[in-house]
Amino acid sequence: MTQKNKKLIAGNWKMNGLQGALNEIEAIAKKLTDYADKGTFLICPPATLIAGAKALAGDALHIGAQDCHSEKNGAFTGDISAEMVADLGGRFVIVGHSERREGHHESNAMVKAKAETALEQGIKPIVCCGETLQQREAGEAIGFVTQQIAESTPDSLSKDGEIALAYEPIWAIGTGKTASVDDVAEMHVALRKTLVDKFGARGHTVEILYGGSVKPENANALLHTQDVDGALVGGASLKAESFLGIVAAL
Ligand code: PEP
Repeated sequence: MTQKNKKLIAGNWKMNGLQGALNEIEAIAKKLTDYADKGTFLICPPATLIAGAKALAGDALHIGAQDCHSEKNGAFTGDISAEMVADLGGRFVIVGHSERREGHHESNAMVKAKAETALEQGIKPIVCCGETLQQREAGEAIGFVTQQIAESTPDSLSKDGEIALAYEPIWAIGTGKTASVDDVAEMHVALRKTLVDKFGARGHTVEILYGGSVKPENANALLHTQDVDGALVGGASLKAESFLGIVAAL
């Protein structure tokens, strides 16, 4: 069973949070100093809060973005670039979240281009993947998700741990349903093989996170499942108490 020394616990605030929510960042950052040897911690607030969050985050908490454009800059109204994220001190970006793949018609090729642009700016992309309930029920989950990752990741990695993945079954996101630990382990082992087939030994150094209704009550079991190197957390990352409850499961 592959176990990384430190797990990556990442929060995705989605389109939630006004300036008052920065209190939660402050509360999280204060407490995380107790866990510095156990994990790497990240919150991806909406783009409007990245600068404010960064100012409060200190050294124990990283701040990242929920998306970036595949081009370095240009006439792309409303988008933000990886360079802008880096300029604010962001060191991570989520790419290919299912809400962007579905709502913004992002293809594997687009997600790959975003991941490559992020790397050029020194930002670590967290490349998301996940199947629908219909695909799982039809027995297509492993084939679909591993192909997503084969096609959505950069062609090569120039250093260990340069990217992370997040396996997020779409039917488990925001629904309160989580995949069983057996299903998570089966998928993460298949994703590890996909990474090693594509990147060689370096594929072992990529963190594979699980996401989908992770909360303090289920974090311990999920975080100690085979090849689970951390969690991508939506709803439960919005409040310091629940995010820290997940961190405590480390
Ligand atoms: C997510 O969308 O990345 C996610 C995992 O959401 P939730 O934890 O709310 O299911």
